[in-house]
Amino acid sequence: MALKGIDIFKMSPKKNCKECGVPTCMAFSMKVAAGALPITKCPYMGADVIAKLSEATAPPMKTIKVGDLKMGGETVLFRHEKTFVSKTLYAVSVNEAQDVDAVLAEAQKVDYERIGEREYVEMIFVDYKGDKDAYVEAAKKAAAIGREVILNVECPEAAEAALEAIKDKKPVLNGATAENADAMNALATKYGVVLGIKAATLDELHALAEKMEAAGNKNMILNASTASIKDAFEFAVQIRRACLDKKNTDRTFGYPTLVNVAALAAGDQAMQTALASLFTMKYGSIVVMEGMSYAQALPLYGLRQNLFTDPQKPMKVAPGIYPLNGADENAICCITVDFALTYFVVSGELERSGVPINMFICDAGGYSVLTAWAAGKLSASTIAKFVQENAGAMQNKTLILPGKVAVLQGEVKDKLPDWNVVIGPREAVELVQYLKEFK
Ligand code: SF4
Repeated sequence: MALKGIDIFKMSPKKNCKECGVPTCMAFSMKVAAGALPITKCPYMGADVIAKLSEATAPPMKTIKVGDLKMGGETVLFRHEKTFVSKTLYAVSVNEAQDVDAVLAEAQKVDYERIGEREYVEMIFVDYKGDKDAYVEAAKKAAAIGREVILNVECPEAAEAALEAIKDKKPVLNGATAENADAMNALATKYGVVLGIKAATLDELHALAEKMEAAGNKNMILNASTASIKDAFEFAVQIRRACLDKKNTDRTFGYPTLVNVAALAAGDQAMQTALASLFTMKYGSIVVMEGMSYAQALPLYGLRQNLFTDPQKPMKVAPGIYPLNGADENAICCITVDFALTYFVVSGELERSGVPINMFICDAGGYSVLTAWAAGKLSASTIAKFVQENAGAMQNKTLILPGKVAVLQGEVKDKLPDWNVVIGPREAVELVQYLKEFK
């Protein structure tokens, strides 16, 4: 049960010294209870109190790391409440009975950048079908391509052989059940890897998670059911609800969830893509698919990026000069704002034109052109300041303004008398034609 601010206050030093950055111990206690500050921010809190409170005030859902990837750590059920922090990871399934090289080669084809984020298949799910030696070889191949690996295996002997073969990779060991839990937990502990646990019902999964925790393992992921889509959805939603219920937090379910849509809709790529969308929203930390083509990836990664960006922080790119199409100081220049979507849309159209051009990105607080202008973040002064500070080396002093702020032209001209300030199109899509006709 989560502690209330008043419970924490009773154990606080009550000095009201402000060293934690909060005016009073009471205010500090309220913030700790809300998860806004760690208890260790107070330098006068006794070690025994910290030990007592740390567990009670820790986030209900643990953050589990696999290589550089992280899962879990969520604090809210809905994105509009706050922010989701660990994006859903996509895994491609392969087993030793398949042409492993071909599956892995296909899985690596999707690899592109969208709004500053690399989009690719992050994990390979190596599914055991009964041939131990071939499975070990498949695991080695999966580990060699630079993606994180999940060993989906319930046979302890095969699991140990595969773990030994790729122990430096630290794969996820996904396969602890009520029957093999002790052996699998011993392997996960020996090799220092995350343990995936499975059960047929939510009650059995809860009991298994409790058993693993009692055995000292708090580095787990929970498998959603593969019996049916309905069951998998129920597992994913109930697990997340249970651990994030503010009144009755169930920390035993405070682990990330793996959903195997490859098993739920085997052979049906369209259904797998639809299910991957569903479990990206509700609440798969890892979603396993049979493959990932660009046709599947483009909507999925777009959806994921929309869900897992912080709505309170504008998506920005770094201000500066971006030479496009081989532009040098003799190329014409244009200026726009640092809102990431504006940058990618405009730079895409500029590149499509093939015309060498220097794209100036000024600091406009991460807003779009009109919003930045309305908020006073994009003005004649900010444009002139950017050009004066950054574009001194430019020989071609032609500067194209966004058409939506044509009203600034006169003032920018006054502030930059050496520059030929012209008005560009209102929409990015018109840039190609505009530049082709530009004299
Ligand atoms: S640093 Fe500790 S003692 Fe000082 S105000 Fe904050 S909570 Fe109270």
